[in-house]
Amino acid sequence: MQFSDKIYVAGHRGLVGSALMRRLEKGGYSNIVTRTHAELDLKDQRAVTEFFAQEKPDHVFLAAAKVGGIVANNTYPADFIYQNLMIQSNVIHAAYSNEVKKLLFLGSSCIYPKFAPQPMKEEHLLTGVLEPTNEPYAVAKIAGIKMCGAYNRQYDTNFMSVMPTNLYGLGDNYDLQNSHVMPALIRKMHEAKIRGDAQVSVWGSGTPRREFLYGDDMADACVFLMENRNANDTGEFVNIGVGEDITIRELAERVAKVVGFHGELVFDSSKPDGTPQKLLDVTHLNKLGWRAKTAMDEGIGKAYQDFMRRYGA
Ligand code: GDP
Repeated sequence: MQFSDKIYVAGHRGLVGSALMRRLEKGGYSNIVTRTHAELDLKDQRAVTEFFAQEKPDHVFLAAAKVGGIVANNTYPADFIYQNLMIQSNVIHAAYSNEVKKLLFLGSSCIYPKFAPQPMKEEHLLTGVLEPTNEPYAVAKIAGIKMCGAYNRQYDTNFMSVMPTNLYGLGDNYDLQNSHVMPALIRKMHEAKIRGDAQVSVWGSGTPRREFLYGDDMADACVFLMENRNANDTGEFVNIGVGEDITIRELAERVAKVVGFHGELVFDSSKPDGTPQKLLDVTHLNKLGWRAKTAMDEGIGKAYQDFMRRYGA
């Protein structure tokens, strides 16, 4: 990737997309093209085709997706499969048609089987049944990986796929119903602290294990791969994570500490636990030359400051 190359960041307002913008600008890239959702509907094949023909980007970060937490996935399964299949099919095909030099497709660790051995290695893809709560989303993301691989094989494109673990950080979604666990806990604990509540409700049993990667670290990994690696090096796809996980209870305790909530945690068993453990094996990524840098308490602190700035509570 050259400094003069035109780089298209699809989904530049999202958690990863906005981190990519910060990272690219810091890295000296200035020829970056973006479109808001209102300006370009990535589900619209004609609009995407026109956009690529007009802009002719050299590099594409495909960070646009319909995303959400466990309840959102369970409530809107049709939206999750339809929107993601449309967005990625349109962008990947247009990237091929317009001779994009390199594309990076962002997936998610929920592509792995529900009971995949832990930590999950890239080779565990499609070795078992998926977690039902996010199966439609996962199937779309698996299709994206396979589509990049198929285009590489048939058309000799250079399309890489990365599968991040649970992400959090600046610009996250703090909607209590539809967000992921980290932003939900930051908000719940903050509001409980302000109101002086004695308790905060944590969904599920608190025993599921999850791994959390700071959004700016994710962006750094993506830019590292774009700059230094090709689809031949990465294979079908690469996990992006930190290589360590914690229980939801431990996470809740850490968030409480950072936020300064001193009350009690109450576990709500009427809410789903989801998959029992989600930890990525990051050996492949480490061998490619990248490691996560941000310690979790530091990341939670920065996310909390961003929440305060945006919601000003
Ligand atoms: P997942 O990693 O795909 O399961 O998605 P989530 O981030 O939504 O949930 C991770 C885990 O955190 C699940 O076991 C949830 O039940 C648990 N959890 C605890 N409290 C919350 C909360 O307030 N919101 C969300 N989304 N999850 C929570």
